[in-house]
Amino acid sequence: MQQTTHHFARRVNDLSESAIFRIGARAKALADEGHDIVRLDAGEPDFNTPQWIIDAAKQALDDGFTRYTEIGGLPQLKEAIQHKLESQNQLHYRLEQIMHTCGAKQGLFNACMSLLGPGDEIVIPTPRWGTYPAIADIAAAKTVNATTRYEDGFVLTPETLDHALSSRTRVLILNSPNNPTGQVYSREELAALGNVLLEYPDVIVLSDDIYEHLRFTNQPYANILNVCPSLKNRTVVINGVSKAYAMTGWRVGFAAGPEDIINEMQKLQGQTNSHTAAVSQVAATAALNGGLDEVTTMSQVFAERARQVAEGLKPVERIKCLPAQGSFYCLPDFSPIIESLPDVDDDRELADWLLDKLGIAMVPGSAFNAPGHMRLSFAASDKTLQKGLDRLQKTFA
Ligand code: PMP
Repeated sequence: MQQTTHHFARRVNDLSESAIFRIGARAKALADEGHDIVRLDAGEPDFNTPQWIIDAAKQALDDGFTRYTEIGGLPQLKEAIQHKLESQNQLHYRLEQIMHTCGAKQGLFNACMSLLGPGDEIVIPTPRWGTYPAIADIAAAKTVNATTRYEDGFVLTPETLDHALSSRTRVLILNSPNNPTGQVYSREELAALGNVLLEYPDVIVLSDDIYEHLRFTNQPYANILNVCPSLKNRTVVINGVSKAYAMTGWRVGFAAGPEDIINEMQKLQGQTNSHTAAVSQVAATAALNGGLDEVTTMSQVFAERARQVAEGLKPVERIKCLPAQGSFYCLPDFSPIIESLPDVDDDRELADWLLDKLGIAMVPGSAFNAPGHMRLSFAASDKTLQKGLDRLQKTFA
């Protein structure tokens, strides 16, 4: 049969395939063939959604939550979000300033598509999650990378931020705990960034707090609004239940911010996916109202694994790695390894090499604008993790 060539819009032509999915697909194919593959590439908790949340969802179906809901979300979900922000984050929002989204990802998408157009700039601290610049591309905006350094704990400095901002900047993204570095911003570091932002009154901050509950330090959680309340009229807080409650597949996130921005985001959502499934909204309501016991337990497990990874990488002196303070990732620097391997030129080739030769799946750092690095996810059992660390030690120590 003759192959038809279709013409696609530039916004999809220019989108690159997710390196995360590529390496995941290769790892799965090798595992299906019977190879012993250690998966350290996962972007989701390896826990199941707590049973009481699943029970709430089952009940919701019997109760008839099978129809369209309000675009912004079921009233009880919005109230649960409001209460969560108030009690856990000391942030007060009226219900009109809150909406649910189809995962935090759609919250970011709605916000960027509402705020950015051709010629506008978005400042993204790097290393960063690949979806941020992809969304900026879809909005035809220009991504300005603000590079963070290992020496600064992968935290954006006020000088670098000041340098990246311009009169064309419309949006700044902050993400703490961070994917892929695993680092967490302190209150002081956030306050210093807030001071710079005061000089740029037109910049809107998107605070991606999705890993909020997965933290391994004793400091209470802070986002930029907790230290710079004056930014409230130009900050949108993005969060969700995916990572904290092991609910990635339910697709519930939320956004809170100035009412006019939330209104535009809702307009966009109303003309695209409308809302996430009613049953998912009820499940998320139960999760947010249900206390943090399981969340704390899961976070403690991740903290233990972060220690396991830090210990396991120590003997491999050539690989520098900041121990994770949050999320379930860290970002070891493999550049000396890449240099030492004759048939490997960059981190993408190293990802394939590690998979083929050692049976370890990790996502290449260039997917996060961190060439030479690999993202190691410890959303894997202790046994799997140890097997991967042993293989790395045996080969590179
Ligand atoms: N922000 C970051 C930094 C993430 O890593 C992810 C998930 N990988 C998300 C947002 C999106 O989360 P979700 O859409 O599942 O809520």
